[in-house]
Amino acid sequence: MNKIAWPVTKGVMLEEPTNKEKRVKIIVLNESKTPDPLNKVEKRCAVTPSSAQRLVKKGLSITLEAGAGLLSGYSDKEYEGVGVSVISDVNESISSADMLVAVNKPSESQLALMKKGAIVVGHLDPFFQQPLVESIADKQLTAISVEMIPRSSRAQKMDALSSQASLAGYVMVMQAASLLPSILPMMMTPSGTIKPAKVFIIGAGVAGLQAIATAKRLGANVLAYDTREVVAEQVESLGGKFLKIDIGETGQTKDGYAKELTEEQKAKQQDAQRDAIADSDIVITTAQLFGRKPPVLISKDTLALMKPGSVVVDMAATSGGNVEGSVAGETVEVNGVNVIGDGYWSQFVARAATDMYANNIYNLVDEFFDTETNTFNLDLDDDILAGCVIAHQGSVTNDMLLNAYKGA
Ligand code: NAD
Repeated sequence: MNKIAWPVTKGVMLEEPTNKEKRVKIIVLNESKTPDPLNKVEKRCAVTPSSAQRLVKKGLSITLEAGAGLLSGYSDKEYEGVGVSVISDVNESISSADMLVAVNKPSESQLALMKKGAIVVGHLDPFFQQPLVESIADKQLTAISVEMIPRSSRAQKMDALSSQASLAGYVMVMQAASLLPSILPMMMTPSGTIKPAKVFIIGAGVAGLQAIATAKRLGANVLAYDTREVVAEQVESLGGKFLKIDIGETGQTKDGYAKELTEEQKAKQQDAQRDAIADSDIVITTAQLFGRKPPVLISKDTLALMKPGSVVVDMAATSGGNVEGSVAGETVEVNGVNVIGDGYWSQFVARAATDMYANNIYNLVDEFFDTETNTFNLDLDDDILAGCVIAHQGSVTNDMLLNAYKGA
């Protein structure tokens, strides 16, 4: 076999730290070792060899639990090669760490080992994990919830919700396409002409727009709907058609999130989109309400109107569901339609998901790391940290969460 001459990437020489004692110590756990309640194994890791190398170069020290990157394609050796210390017994390292960076929320037993004042970073699911957030505060730890990073231009590079949702949009189309007993593009052959598949995307936020772009690239005919009419232009710029439904005043919050519809509006939306659903080969629902349960948008009766073998992907299946009958973590048949509720979408492309998430985490640390004092600068007057630091010095610090916990 001829050897392929790939371009050579030169390694970066790591500078010796000036003072090892003063380095901020980050611990990264192997999250695949603790499956979640649906028995799903986390495939992503909060650092890659590349992001770790950049963090080490900045003067931080990184300790990684063995095997943490394996399911996203990164071996322990690669981490060791850039100056990461790879260990199998993490308990001692957790207790000496200044920061624990994770994809998900750490367990209570891991949190119990952390020293006072240390920082925990991850998808902490704070609206639905009140006891965990309060226990982090009680332990005098600082919690940074990546879900609460503001959706601002400055914070875009740290926006883990967007990075993972973009991949989810792509994955959901690929999954639907692989189950559909037809093809997405139009195909004209001497044996006949196959019409392009009709794909209807409900919710045109980050995931929905990426789903529209992916389905268009595959040649489908794409229709989309969102309660935020401002996205109509974005849908059209991707080659999709925006379904206009008059359900009265909808709008969005100051952060750009959809407002919850009234019962009457929900009923109107379901009526108006019924024909579009019945006529579609694939429907992908991505509708979410920040900090609340997602709205139910498709009933079993509406599913029954679709052609047998059609495919519906319910992005929200693991958090309540947009589709009646979808099952969290599974693909099920409902009234002749395959309803995909797998969730964990970005993990189907675990390497890309890890690469993006690790960059988000690197950018967060980089933004607030003071190289002169070798400290992570927890400046709560900064609008990014004011949003995403949700527990600090013994209290829950985010007003939106405090209101949600009070049921307001
Ligand atoms: P999301 O995940 O909260 O919701 C997904 C989509 O579902 C949204 O577009 C929402 O309007 C829609 N939706 C809610 N209820 C619906 C219903 N009943 N029917 C149809 N659609 C419904 O949203 P997201 O993708 O996280 O985006 C949230 C906002 O943040 C958007 O305004 C987006 O443009 C903005 N954003 C900004 C930045 C930035 O400026 N850096 C980055 C990412 C996202």
